[in-house]
Amino acid sequence: EAKRNGPGHWCAYTPSLGLTQLRRVLIERQLRSALQEGRLDVYYQPIVNLVRQEWSSFEALARWQDPDLGWVSPAEFIRVAEEAGLISDLGTVILRRALRQSVAWTAQWGRPVTVSVNVSATQLMRPEFPAHVAQLLQETGANARQLTLELTEAVVVQEADFVTAQLHALRELGVCVALDDFGTGFSSLAILGRLPIDILKVDRAFVRQVHQEPRRQALLSAVMLLGQRLGITVVAEGVEEQRELDVLQGVGCTHVQGYYFARPQPAEVIPPHGTPPPVP
Ligand code: C2E
Ligand code: MG
Ligand code: MG
Ligand code: MG
Repeated sequence: EAKRNGPGHWCAYTPSLGLTQLRRVLIERQLRSALQEGRLDVYYQPIVNLVRQEWSSFEALARWQDPDLGWVSPAEFIRVAEEAGLISDLGTVILRRALRQSVAWTAQWGRPVTVSVNVSATQLMRPEFPAHVAQLLQETGANARQLTLELTEAVVVQEADFVTAQLHALRELGVCVALDDFGTGFSSLAILGRLPIDILKVDRAFVRQVHQEPRRQALLSAVMLLGQRLGITVVAEGVEEQRELDVLQGVGCTHVQGYYFARPQPAEVIPPHGTPPPVP
């Protein structure tokens, strides 16, 4: 391109590609210092137990507001963190904060409060990960029973025997394992067939507008049965409307999460005693 335009012309790359790369470099640099300076936040979104009409757990979600870039979405900065080799440090920061929060809520509310923390495949594949989790549990005084780790299907491209061993080591500590974004990957059933999973989180893709989509309803119903047969708790992600909730309850869904109930929020904003408003 540069050659065709002759010397003195600027045509090395297209502006959009240049901007994307610049943003990536900026995010990496700023994220690095945000991590060092402890400027990442954690928001919490309740997972609702419809049967007991209570909040059964809180998913910890990383949040980051940069002075120059503003709020950056986790979809964007988690990917950069992965690529830049920062994901394990980031994961440790979020896990420690979530465990401390679980200990604080448990003391304040006088009942055990469970937190659910997202773990990237890179983190899980570090041989020392289970020992590291054990150490964080000890450091924070949290009970392993009050921790769920959420994994995505990205674990499936990893070495199967080693993944299985890591999950068994985590479960031996007493930690629960959830499979996140279920149904969006290529090998959801293969994973269920071989990995020790306690909780299935059905992706919002199957929940969205389910009242208008008979195929989605059939799929959800089949996943509920699958969960029952395997002794796995099924959580429906991303419930936004009463009509979606109606269908979910109709197919026997007991656990839901979504904006309809609560958005992810800072811990300080979660009502005292974690008392949810009654399920509508
Ligand atoms: P995820 O683990 O599947 O989390 C659920 C996402 O759905 C969150 O997006 C949440 O805010 C959003 N959500 C919840 N309810 C609704 C709803 O009713 N409607 C819609 N449209 N969305 C809803 P968020 O917070 O932007 O996080 C995106 C993804 O980033 C997460 O998906 C997770 O994969 C990743 N992530 C976030 N925090 C961490 C972290 O600390 N570590 C790692 N490894 N990944 C993280
Ligand atoms: Mg998750
Ligand atoms: Mg999910
Ligand atoms: Mg998701």
